[in-house]
Amino acid sequence: MKCKVYPNNLRNWDLDRVKAPGFDDLNQPNITNIEQVEIVEPRELSRRSKTNSSGYLGAMIDSHAHLGDDVFDVDRAAVLERAQAAGVTHIVDICTDLETLERGLELRSQYPWLHLAAATTPHDVEKEGESFFPFVEQHASELVAIGETGLDYHYEYSPKGLQQKWLRRYAQLAMKRDLPLVIHCRDAFADLFQILSEFSLPRLVLHCFTGTLQEALGVIERGWYVSFSGIVTFKKSEQLQKVAAELPLERILIETDAPYLAPPPHRGKRNEPAYVKEVAKCIADLKGITLDEVAQQTAQNAKALFRFLG
Ligand SMILES: [Zn+2]
Repeated sequence: MKCKVYPNNLRNWDLDRVKAPGFDDLNQPNITNIEQVEIVEPRELSRRSKTNSSGYLGAMIDSHAHLGDDVFDVDRAAVLERAQAAGVTHIVDICTDLETLERGLELRSQYPWLHLAAATTPHDVEKEGESFFPFVEQHASELVAIGETGLDYHYEYSPKGLQQKWLRRYAQLAMKRDLPLVIHCRDAFADLFQILSEFSLPRLVLHCFTGTLQEALGVIERGWYVSFSGIVTFKKSEQLQKVAAELPLERILIETDAPYLAPPPHRGKRNEPAYVKEVAKCIADLKGITLDEVAQQTAQNAKALFRFLG
C-alpha cells in the first residue's frame, strides 16, 4: 500500500535526537536523497566481510530498525539481502503507525527472520495515540515487543502529561500480553523510572541509549537492557563510549535505528541493518574483546529479551 507522507518533524525526529549537547555538530544528512545511498551487492558485501580483519561471519541481531520507512521503498528486498550477507540473522522492525505495521506484517510473511514491535512514539501520541492503539492491541500476538514508547522531554512534541499517559497504557498492554517494552527516553529518566515502577516489567530495553552511566546503571539494576546505536561510534561520543565500556556485555543490545544514524564509514548515507556490524565492532574495541564475542552475547541477549528462536 502507499505509504503516507510524513510531516517534517516526524521525518526528522530520529535525526533530531542526536542534536543533544555534544552532538550538535553531527550534520546529519538528508537521508531522503536516495542518490546518497551506497548500494553494495550482497555478493560483494559478503566478499568484504570474509576479507575483513576479524574474519567474522557469524550471527548478529539488529534489535531496532524502521524497515517500514518509505526511504526503503526503492530497494527493501536488497537491503534485507545485504543484511543477511553481512551476518544479520534477525531484525526487530519497529512499527510506529498503521502504515508501517501493515507493511511489517506483510514483510514478516516473506521474511520469517524479521520480528515486529509496535507503538506510537512519544512524539506522536497527541496526534496518533488513540487511532493506532487498537491496531497494536489487535496484532499483539504477532509482535515480539511493544514499542517504541517512552518519554522525550527534549523536544516535547507531545505534552509531557500525554506522553506519560501513553507510556502507562503501553506498559499495561505489555504486561497483559507478556511482551517486553522498547523504550525511547530523552531527558526524562527520573519520570521514566518513576512511572515504570508502577508496573511489573521483567523484560525491557532502553533503545538508542544516549544517557549517563548512572542512568544506564539504573536500567541494568532493574534487570533491563541498554541498546547502543551508531551514535556510540561517533567521534564526539566519548561519554557514551565510556558508558558502553563500563556496562556488562550481558546487558547490552546493538541496533541500527535505520534508516537514521548511519555509523562510519557510512556516515552521510542512509543507514541499514547490515551496518549493525559497525556498532558491534565499536563495542568490541571499547571493551578490548572480539567482534565474535560481542555478536554472540548481544544476540543471546536479544533472544532472551524478545524470545525468538533460531
Ligand atoms: Zn527508532
